[in-house]
Amino acid sequence: MTHTADTQTAGAVESQAPIVGHSIGGELVHDSDRYTPVYNPATGEQTARVALADHATVDTAVEVAASAQRAWRKAGLAKRTQVMFKARQILDERRDELAASITAEHGKVLSDAAGEITRGLENVEFCAGLMHHLKGEYAEQVAGGVDVHQVRQPLGVVACITPFNFPAMVPLWMVTTAIAAGNAVILKPSERDPSASLLIAEAFRDAGLPDGILNVVHGDKTAVDALLEHPGITGVSFVGSTPIAKYIYAQSAERGKRVQALGGAKNHMVVMPDAHLDSAADAAVSAAYGSAGERCMAISVVVAVGDIADELVEKIRTRAEALVIGDGTDPASEMGPLITNDALDRVTGYVAGAADEGAAVTLDGRSTQVPDQGYFIGPTLLDHVTPGMKVYDDEIFGPVLSVVRVESYDDAVELINANRYANGTAVFTRDGKTAREFEMDIEVGMVGVNVPIPVPVGAFSFGGWKDSLFGDTHMYGPEAFNFYTRRKVVTSRWPEPSESQVNLGFPTH
Ligand code: NAD
Repeated sequence: MTHTADTQTAGAVESQAPIVGHSIGGELVHDSDRYTPVYNPATGEQTARVALADHATVDTAVEVAASAQRAWRKAGLAKRTQVMFKARQILDERRDELAASITAEHGKVLSDAAGEITRGLENVEFCAGLMHHLKGEYAEQVAGGVDVHQVRQPLGVVACITPFNFPAMVPLWMVTTAIAAGNAVILKPSERDPSASLLIAEAFRDAGLPDGILNVVHGDKTAVDALLEHPGITGVSFVGSTPIAKYIYAQSAERGKRVQALGGAKNHMVVMPDAHLDSAADAAVSAAYGSAGERCMAISVVVAVGDIADELVEKIRTRAEALVIGDGTDPASEMGPLITNDALDRVTGYVAGAADEGAAVTLDGRSTQVPDQGYFIGPTLLDHVTPGMKVYDDEIFGPVLSVVRVESYDDAVELINANRYANGTAVFTRDGKTAREFEMDIEVGMVGVNVPIPVPVGAFSFGGWKDSLFGDTHMYGPEAFNFYTRRKVVTSRWPEPSESQVNLGFPTH
């Protein structure tokens, strides 16, 4: 199935398809000058068309959000806490509906979709403790009769711009903390799989969140630029590819907005000679091919250290070959399709060029038996990959696992630290000293020890280094409360009138 036109005007062939509209102030808005198709990646069929916001729609959303935020900012923390508990309950009750929506538009298998909801809910659970996270500090008697306290106040209206690959989890990372901290949100989800964000907004509304605090505005670059340019937006959270993350970071910073922009990844998994090779092969296959490799924490490079490479590659190959590829709604399927036909073309191109670059194509996903319709490709395993090959240097974002062979632990560390991406990495070993040194030596934001996808639990925060994150604060967890609040320091004194005098000196103590 092929298609090329991504953005269309209303009235084109697909104009009969149901519209996915914006949610502004609790109202669904379907009118738009432009729409883009939404496909089921497992069949290639268009299932809907999503409205693409223009500047005027963004202006309306920001205005509505700003007005609602003035009251929400003053809502008791106990009220906000109740919303968090209730939203958690509702999202859990509606998990099947939400997972089905994710699978229908993203393609990942249903169990994986349910898994991303669980990981998103971790942040709702963390935010239910918002009263603790918003506590300030106090120091009495910093000088004679003078006390100082610090409070955390919301930024105002923040923009949350999210990628296609986690249509529920990443919005839940951002919007939950932003709301818990007293902000109003304009969520701009990926136009590829826009429906999950509306279900999340509905759940929060049903949980008692006032209208206008969580707004969903769909769109492409036009909508994103309108948000970045809008003076009413004070903070921007972004997750997506590195070129767009850099753009968001630069544009936001230039306009004085607080910004965190998470980018792409190339995650390496080091397998030491002493590792349990069957466990390492299980982990590599799960982490490389789960969600068809469309995870920012997917393992895309196995670094085989010493003389274990041949055995390890064979163990990975046999496991990868046995994976069941198919529609994500089929419980037998372990791996679904890619998101779009363009993504399929891109990944197929990397696999096609790998042999010419000098890689050994140990398993070629193009030869895998896959459904006739939809954007499927089987798992690919490339051996003898080296830096300088496109398959190594680029983020492929598909089910392609490369194996780089190195002599020693030092070579592995040098390889990873030279990579421009630094989101996640892992070491597989049975030696505690090696693991400890790796943790210290490696220049990557999230590290797994015998854990291939070390996404931190909700009580910690998530973020990579280098080209995987532009900004200073990581996402969700404690750092998110820092991002979504401004600290204000109040110095106070209650002097007797008799103590008052004119003094032009700089205040000391
Ligand atoms: P993307 O960068 O294409 O899109 C992300 C968001 O930016 C979407 O909402 C999209 O509408 C918007 N956008 C796209 N092009 C734009 C432009 N020119 N100007 C302004 N906005 C634009 O990313 P994607 O394909 O949706 O997601 C996959 C990427 O996200 C991968 O690179 C993956 O590694 C990365 N990712 C990173 C993390 C992380 O935590 N670091 C997590 C998930 C995904």
